[in-house]
Amino acid sequence: MHKRIGILGGMSPESTVEYYRYITRAYTQRYGDYGYPEILIYSVSFQSYVDWPEHDRWDLVAQGLSEAAGRLQAAGADCIVIATNTMHLVYDQVQASVTVPVLNLLDAVGDAILARGIETVGLLGTRFTMEKTFYRDALARKGVSVIVPDAEERAYVNAVIYDELVAGQIRDESRAEFVALIQRLAARGAEGVILGCTEIPLLVSEQDAGMPTFDTTVLHAEAALRYALA
Ligand code: GLU
Repeated sequence: MHKRIGILGGMSPESTVEYYRYITRAYTQRYGDYGYPEILIYSVSFQSYVDWPEHDRWDLVAQGLSEAAGRLQAAGADCIVIATNTMHLVYDQVQASVTVPVLNLLDAVGDAILARGIETVGLLGTRFTMEKTFYRDALARKGVSVIVPDAEERAYVNAVIYDELVAGQIRDESRAEFVALIQRLAARGAEGVILGCTEIPLLVSEQDAGMPTFDTTVLHAEAALRYALA
């Protein structure tokens, strides 16, 4: 039997379903049958996880996600993925609250960047992901340096995530702006770009970007699938 995957999701539902879809489809495409691992999804009520970071209450975020991870473990999850980049800010606390492994999105992303021989990468995500140090520190430990958009662009990217993408709105105008922004990151030395919010791949593809992109949703879901099958 495969290990059972726990998806700690709902941040937002738009990307949580992509994890579920990826794991089940990738398995079937690879092995030709429907014997994919069992999956538990714990979907939090997202509003608190929008409000707490706004008020810098990461202690409440850590507490809420730790309780949710505990429920996934109690329900039989053999591993857990926190299905959002931003919430990896409290990764250590969540991992400390359970005994099953919490598969770190940042490890999957860092390894994928190194595998493509890239050393300097652009990062798009929520303002917390782009502005707090957890993301760039984790990549720096792997020898990857990160370039983020300027303040005005960061505010724009953050607004598109919370006002459009998490609500399932995919707009051509926003895609065009993101592509222009990616080109400016490339002009500043980025050899690739991290789609560092699990909803951004719904808006921009590698083809749109015209340069190597790192789809954090797919990379993290693939890490979960591999762990479950190993
Ligand atoms: N899904 C998003 C991310 O990957 C943002 C939503 C959130 O967790 O605040 O960062």
